[in-house]
Amino acid sequence: MILSRRAPHRILFAALVGLAGCAGDDDGGPAAATGSSDGATLPADDSAGSTNATPSATPNDGETTASGESTGRGSDSAGETTTGSETTADDSTDSTGDPPSACADNWPQWNDGSDCGLPDIQVHQVSDNTFLLRQSLCSNFEAPFMYLLFGTQRVLLQDTGAGNIEIAAAVYSVIDDWLTANNQASIELVVVNSHGHGDHTQGNAMFQGQPNTVVVGTGVAAVSSFFGINNWPQETVQYDLGDRMLDIIAIPGHQSSHIAIYDHGENWLLTGDTLYPGRLYIADFPTYVESIARMVEHVADLPTCNVMGTHVEMTTTAGDDFPFGAVTHPSEHALQLTSSHLTELRDGVAAMAGAPVIEAHDDFIIYPL
Ligand SMILES: [Zn+2]
Repeated sequence: MILSRRAPHRILFAALVGLAGCAGDDDGGPAAATGSSDGATLPADDSAGSTNATPSATPNDGETTASGESTGRGSDSAGETTTGSETTADDSTDSTGDPPSACADNWPQWNDGSDCGLPDIQVHQVSDNTFLLRQSLCSNFEAPFMYLLFGTQRVLLQDTGAGNIEIAAAVYSVIDDWLTANNQASIELVVVNSHGHGDHTQGNAMFQGQPNTVVVGTGVAAVSSFFGINNWPQETVQYDLGDRMLDIIAIPGHQSSHIAIYDHGENWLLTGDTLYPGRLYIADFPTYVESIARMVEHVADLPTCNVMGTHVEMTTTAGDDFPFGAVTHPSEHALQLTSSHLTELRDGVAAMAGAPVIEAHDDFIIYPL
C-alpha cells in the first residue's frame, strides 16, 4: 500500500468525473469519443479470442438509464431467492474456498488505444460459454468491459458500453456463433447492467424490442423486481441461466443500483465499478463499506478464481494510474484481480473509519467523492 495522496490534478479529476459516467448517481455519457474505424489486425496473443469489427459508429447517446423498462422476467426461473433453489447444490454449496479446479487464464492482450484501426469492440472467448468484450479506448476513454455468460436456457449480458459502438450487432453475432457451435436454435438474451452509469448502459436501447431479448431497467426498483430481491441490499439471490447459477449481490455505494455477480460457471466474481484496477469512485462511503463486506462474506466459502471489474485505469507500475480521460493505455494493468484484492479493499475502507481519503494501493485507488 502506498501513502495517501491528493495531488492537485486529482482534485480536478474529481470535479471532472462528476460530469462523467462513473461518478454521479445517474447517467452522464462520457465525452471524449473520438473517431472509430473498422479494424484489421488482431492483437498479438489472443489465444482463444477473436475480435469483431464493428465499423460504423452510430452515436447512441440516448438516455437509457432512467427508465425502469424491465420487460419482465426472463421466463420461468428469474428471481428465485437464495435459499430455495434446487439447482444450487452441485457446485455452489459444497465448496469450501478450495482453489477452483479450472480458472480462466487465457487472457488476451487488450488493445491499448494506440491503433484506432483496430475494431471498436474486442471480443475475447474466455471458455466455451463465456465471452469478454471490451469497448476500445478509441471510441470512448472509459473503455468498459462487458461480460456475456451463456447457460443452457439463457445468456446474460452484463453492460452495454459507453455508446458510439455497435454493441448489439457484436453481441448477437457472438450468440449466433454460439448457437451454431451448440446445435441450438435459439436462446434468450437477458441484458442487465452492473450499475446505472452511462458508460455501462448506453447500448441498452439497441437491445430494446429485439427478438428473444429482455432488457432489465437500471434503477433499484427494476433490478430488485427482476431478480426478486425483496430486501435490497441485504438479500442475495440466485439467478439460473440453465446449468449455470449466478448469485446476485446488491452492492450500492459506487452507485445506488450496483450489483455484483458471483458466477458458478467460471467461479469468478464480477464487481463492475466497485472493484477494478483503477480509481474506485465512492459516492456513498458507508454504504460502500457495507457492500464490500457483503461481497467478502459471500465468497468466503466459494472458490474464487478472479475478481473481474469493468475498467482498467492502473498502469503496471504499482499505485500508478493513467490520467483521467486518457485515450491510450500503454503498459496497462491486467483486468483480472483476486479475492485478496477484495479483502485488501475491505480492510482499506474499514480502516478509514468514517474519514475517507483518496488512497492509492498497488492495484487500485480508493477514491471517495
Ligand atoms: Zn460507474
